[in-house]
Amino acid sequence: MMEFSASRSASPDRAIPPRGEPLSDGEVGFLWWFIQGGIMDSEVRAHLHRGWGLCPRHSFAFLAVNAAFCHHYLHGPAVLYADLMTRARDAFALSGPLHETRLQHRLRESGPCHICNQGLGPASAGFASPEHLVIGRNTDNILGFLRETQPFWMPALCGRCSGTAAAPRCRPHLVEELAEGTLRDLARQRALVENITRHLLNYEQSFRWEFNGTDTLEDRGALVGAVGWCSGWEALLHVISDQAVTH
Ligand SMILES: [Zn+2]
Ligand SMILES: [Zn+2]
Repeated sequence: MMEFSASRSASPDRAIPPRGEPLSDGEVGFLWWFIQGGIMDSEVRAHLHRGWGLCPRHSFAFLAVNAAFCHHYLHGPAVLYADLMTRARDAFALSGPLHETRLQHRLRESGPCHICNQGLGPASAGFASPEHLVIGRNTDNILGFLRETQPFWMPALCGRCSGTAAAPRCRPHLVEELAEGTLRDLARQRALVENITRHLLNYEQSFRWEFNGTDTLEDRGALVGAVGWCSGWEALLHVISDQAVTH
């Protein structure tokens, strides 16, 4: 089993996958705006719906910057991914002819990553203050969150992304296999999506005052499962393998 190694913890502003570059000024600045409420903008939300979230680099960066500034208070990501996973769960509610084709169309993205689409990448200049850059690039908090919840998101890891025989499929690989007609266990994939959604809704609810403290580690792990399911596990696997030891 892979586990994080505390002794091999990388420097706080370690590289962000997939190509290994740290977050640029422009990316940190944009993500700061995002977590300050920009994510609630209706046009932004429509874009995030069309893209099923963000590309692998920016979905991990969204979690990482949120955790860096908000110390594990991942309310914004919980709201966004509870919304996306609810749509995914509902997309499976199909019957009748050609339902696999219709599901494939429902789960396919119809727009690019919103942050990439702003022209933002590893080389983007921006207006983030030096203090914000230091905080925003620090991945200690998100690595702590991943480590703490690992037993609960590992079972959702996509076999195609990880190159293993594991049955789960992320959304991009699910769409690919639906298109090829090679997917063998649709009921199992549906159960995975329903399980992630149920726990993520519990996590999202726990941010309401009257439900404060009701979330479990499994509920928090569902946020990682949702990001991996929506965007694929490329960036998360990069982080895991960079931090992992094999027992
Ligand atoms: Zn992107
Ligand atoms: Zn995958």
